[in-house]
Amino acid sequence: MKTKKVELVLQPNETHWVGDGFRVHNFIPGGYHLDMERMNPFILLDYNSKYVFPPSKKPKGVGVHPHRGFETVSIAYKGKVAHHDSSGGGGVIGEGDVQWMTAASGVLHKEYHEENWSKQGGEFQMVQLWVNLPAKDKMSNPKYQPITNDMMGKVDLLDDGGLIEIVAGSYNDVQGPASTFTPIHLFNAKLNKEGKASFNFPANYNTALLVIEGSIKINENELVPTDNFALFENEGEEFTIHAQENSIVLIMSAESLNEPISAHGPFVMNTRQEIIQAFDDFNRGKFGYLED
Ligand code: MN
Repeated sequence: MKTKKVELVLQPNETHWVGDGFRVHNFIPGGYHLDMERMNPFILLDYNSKYVFPPSKKPKGVGVHPHRGFETVSIAYKGKVAHHDSSGGGGVIGEGDVQWMTAASGVLHKEYHEENWSKQGGEFQMVQLWVNLPAKDKMSNPKYQPITNDMMGKVDLLDDGGLIEIVAGSYNDVQGPASTFTPIHLFNAKLNKEGKASFNFPANYNTALLVIEGSIKINENELVPTDNFALFENEGEEFTIHAQENSIVLIMSAESLNEPISAHGPFVMNTRQEIIQAFDDFNRGKFGYLED
């Protein structure tokens, strides 16, 4: 088993606003060579680092918008988000929960701070990851997987080191609940100070982590502080993390999806023709209707 080395550590870049409810650092597609192709099927990662929203009677967020060709995975660490879509689906993503939405052939949706949470305000911290779909599944039916924390696979680490929560894929033969179109591992490592965990993914899987809380050492030599993102080489299989303080780390690894990408705004397809078709379908109301 060969060590999987860190290729790049990225500090959080300047924030930008998504609607008025999400203040995010964008890590994928980011600078350097961290583009959609490099990380495919992880084609976008927006990170709302911890930010205090004052109380607001009118929930903040993003109004009605479409998606086609991929999945949005929302991971709530602090705060609550309410979600509604054009197929009548909806729900609340609470602290510690994940929503795995397959937009596929197309949905309209809106994402706002949950009403009661919004009235109180407070610390808000969230990740939204876009997971690309293989060409053959891009026009499949939309679906939702609300994944509450109690549904996740859990593995306790040795020596009171903490635990691994498995959203998708598996860790030490414990399976996560999310169903995915291609092989994907998505975990939260919740480590106590001095806790250690090791991970083992195929060499060619696109692999990265984001430090949500605390700070860790990767392979006992690379220090990665809060809100920093580490990309791994596509060589070697095994790496370790060692918590320097109580830490939460989002770990992602997926089989590389080697298909052409044509992306424009909320649509991610394989060809430019399919993007034009997506705009056309959207303008003709084929994504349904949703009141703002
Ligand atoms: Mn969206």
